[in-house]
Amino acid sequence: MISVYEAIEVILNQISPLSGEEVPILQAAGRVLCEDVCSRRSVPPFSNSAMDGYAVRWQDVAEASPANPVTLRILESVPAGYVAKRRVVEGSAIKIMTGAPLPRGADTVVRVEHTESAGDDVRINRVDGSGSHIREAGEDIQKGQMILEKGKVLSPADIGLMASVGKSRVRVYRRPTVGVISTGDELLEVGDRPRAGKIVNSNSYTLAAAIRETGAISVALGIVRDKRKSLASVFKRALRYDAVITSGGISMGDYDLVKEALGDVGVEMQFWHVAQRPGHPMAFGRIGRKPVFGLPGNPVSSAVSFLLYARPALLKLMGHRNLFLPVIQATLEHEIKKSRGVKEFIRCRLRFEEGRSFASSTGAQGAGMLRSLSLAQGLIVAGEEQTFLEEGSQVPVILLNHHDLLQSEAGF
Ligand code: AMP
Ligand code: MG
Repeated sequence: MISVYEAIEVILNQISPLSGEEVPILQAAGRVLCEDVCSRRSVPPFSNSAMDGYAVRWQDVAEASPANPVTLRILESVPAGYVAKRRVVEGSAIKIMTGAPLPRGADTVVRVEHTESAGDDVRINRVDGSGSHIREAGEDIQKGQMILEKGKVLSPADIGLMASVGKSRVRVYRRPTVGVISTGDELLEVGDRPRAGKIVNSNSYTLAAAIRETGAISVALGIVRDKRKSLASVFKRALRYDAVITSGGISMGDYDLVKEALGDVGVEMQFWHVAQRPGHPMAFGRIGRKPVFGLPGNPVSSAVSFLLYARPALLKLMGHRNLFLPVIQATLEHEIKKSRGVKEFIRCRLRFEEGRSFASSTGAQGAGMLRSLSLAQGLIVAGEEQTFLEEGSQVPVILLNHHDLLQSEAGF
């Protein structure tokens, strides 16, 4: 049996990012750049006014003050999106709107608040300095400059940045397709009528949603019965996807045949037990470069094992370098007993008070109790060697669902 850290290391060591693909920039949001992006244009593309006001020559207005205003002749008015026809010459000004190109001859903009118009003339009452209120061509981005580096996770600003330099398509790492299979004679489809001895397959749903959350593409391959042949034939089909995730059938029961059936289709199993709770049976194998995760059947075990192992692996396939859920330190609100030799992940609620975080268990921690995972905002992590966690002690907590953390006020 290997430790959680060893399992993560074994898995991640065998995974490298998929190839890249070119997509329209909007489809690249949240994905990882697979090329360096250099700008083919300068931004702004031309010097322009940062204010509504008047484009002038500094030497004409340098001495202007409320007591001694300078009067200039207005040659024309230039809105954003148009180019002035005239040139600013001695004693003249061109009325200008924010974003309009700076007219020839002008080197300074006087904001409209510092002026008074008088028919064809304008009186300049105040100035903010030579060259003020001008956005220089290329002051944000120079032509040829690298603006986004390969490996960056693209934010909304990055998408806009690419748009601003006229880049409409970009190379990002491909999203893996993930075949999802639930195994078990007891499983019903979600719409089926309840029947004696049967339960609804929830794992396929939990896993599909969790896969989607990583950005990968989940492909539902349905329920397979606990027969080695049926399992092997579905696994064979599943191997056309970039990764495979199964649930159930990997513990010690008479009908736990997933490991054997994966072997039948050529998957090399690397390990099938991890010193953890929940989810002690947890298999990982590989066929070629393709990772295959044999997650446990219990709904909480499979969900937690997904987060611990499959999630970072899928993120790595998509070129991410930040692979792990955030961990905070929290004060434990009550004692916890556990057995030695396994790392435990305890579903918990979180509370924040005066800059400190407090964690308390969601209650009974049965591996089949999905509701307690649904209530959880985090997972308290208790080390292999620990048998007792004291009330008031500091514990690491993996943050699960930050959308669920209560922050109804802006907090700033
Ligand atoms: P197994 O690992 O196949 O022995 O399954 C362990 C437990 O998880 C059993 O109680 C199963 O009924 C349950 N289980 C297995 N697969 C699923 C599934 N897809 N959805 C919900 N529960 C499941
Ligand atoms: Mg089973």
